[in-house]
Amino acid sequence: MKQLKYILFFSTFIFTFSASAQTISNVFLSTLLPDIQSDGQVEFTQTIWFYLLLLLIALVVSFVIYRIWVSSLNKSDQELRDQVKDQTIDLQRNMDKLLQEIVERKRIENALIAEKERADSANKSKSEFLANMSHEIRTPMNGIIGMTDILKQTKLDAKQEDYVLTIQHSAASLLNLINDILDFSKIEAGQIDIEEIDFNLHAATLEILDILKYKINEKKLYLKTHIAPNVPQWVKGDNFRFKQILTNLFNNAVKFTENGGITVNVSMTDQTPTHVKIKFEVIDTGIGITESNLKKLFQSFSQVDSSTTRLYGGTGLGLVISKNIAKLLGGEMGVESEEGKGSNFWFWINYKKSQHSHLTVEPIKVKENLEPNKLHVLLAEDNPINQKVAKMHLEKLGHSVECANNGKIAFEMYTKNDYDLIFMDIQMPEMDGIQATKLIREFESDIQLTTPIKIIALTANAMKGDKEACLTAGMNNYMSKPFKPAELSQVLKESFPDTDLS
Ligand code: ADP
Repeated sequence: MKQLKYILFFSTFIFTFSASAQTISNVFLSTLLPDIQSDGQVEFTQTIWFYLLLLLIALVVSFVIYRIWVSSLNKSDQELRDQVKDQTIDLQRNMDKLLQEIVERKRIENALIAEKERADSANKSKSEFLANMSHEIRTPMNGIIGMTDILKQTKLDAKQEDYVLTIQHSAASLLNLINDILDFSKIEAGQIDIEEIDFNLHAATLEILDILKYKINEKKLYLKTHIAPNVPQWVKGDNFRFKQILTNLFNNAVKFTENGGITVNVSMTDQTPTHVKIKFEVIDTGIGITESNLKKLFQSFSQVDSSTTRLYGGTGLGLVISKNIAKLLGGEMGVESEEGKGSNFWFWINYKKSQHSHLTVEPIKVKENLEPNKLHVLLAEDNPINQKVAKMHLEKLGHSVECANNGKIAFEMYTKNDYDLIFMDIQMPEMDGIQATKLIREFESDIQLTTPIKIIALTANAMKGDKEACLTAGMNNYMSKPFKPAELSQVLKESFPDTDLS
């Protein structure tokens, strides 16, 4: 477009220039050289020279214009080049900056990854430390609690019995404390295992209340229990963790109530084709909580006021643990309370419906053997005190026990003798319980044994994954130490459901 403009301008110029040159030369010749014309000689403007002159002038002018044009083009080209150069320098500068930023970000990202790895490994070490600590603390606790149980059953005078009871209470409180701290750490580290088993919710609720009833009786309080008829008998979920929450709320209710009593309500608040939402309420007529103190509840290590701590003791971990567990079970926890009148601590859990849920009556098991049965038990346990405690408990139930000090000895004894059951400790020298169980299961499959022996893990570890590791290795059940005699009987009943072990 620009070029066309120049060509047009250029041709107009040549045309105008030649026309005006011709006119000027005509005037000039007619004025200065009139004689030549009158002589009838040929006018100069009509000669070839005149036209050549015109052409020359036009060429010169064109050349000058062309030069001006080219130089102006060069100038704008140079300007453009300068601009591009400036912009390239700017771009380069920005690129350098960007590159620096990327390098810096990468450095920060690497530092963060390294920091996270350090934190993860620190967290893992913490969990491992806790697992070990818990093992180390629970092992002697098992000894104290177990031996106290046994001591209590010997002939004691009144004073001695009182001392033994004190030891028993202190040991139980210490164990609760250890369990709370361990649970709290497990929640923090996301290490809580949630089970999904079919269980009888009515029976589990009544069982807990039955166990804790003695506390009510001691304080002469009433206990009212109401399970709504629409609450299914069977649900699928974590029986153990449900019992833990209910026990905690119930213990608190008894602890903070001096007159009146406790009411436990269980109701179904919602259901879908697959799930049921069950609400549990523990209502007491105790000291209650002020409105300002209510806000402090459910916070770690928080007791609503220090006078309560002085009077009633406690770590302030129970409610935090319970609330977190309720959440892990797909539920919630809350409280309504009035100072001086009492509290209503409630929680609900979202259970899966059980295949048993259409049953309203618990199925009656047909027992194969109605005669009381005694078991021949192999106990794999390295700690001599724990050996003694477990042996005495089992013998008290009428079973015969042989001990192995490690997994290797247990395996050898198993291959040479006829046992009904193995209690297998996990941490043992030379060969641990997991390895020994794997070896036993391999041996059984080699000799094509149709009824493999029942193996129950007996461990002071209680971290996430422990149970899975035991079950994966081929064990049938899991019992954590220290155990109560009732828990031992329960595990035996579960392991031999068709045998009367009473
Ligand atoms: P703790 O082990 O100290 O009892 P919790 O987390 O179970 O810890 O309870 C925290 C605090 O909440 C208690 O110290 C008490 O002040 C208050 N609390 C809990 N339950 C009740 C209740 N039923 N009535 C009155 N106060 C309660």
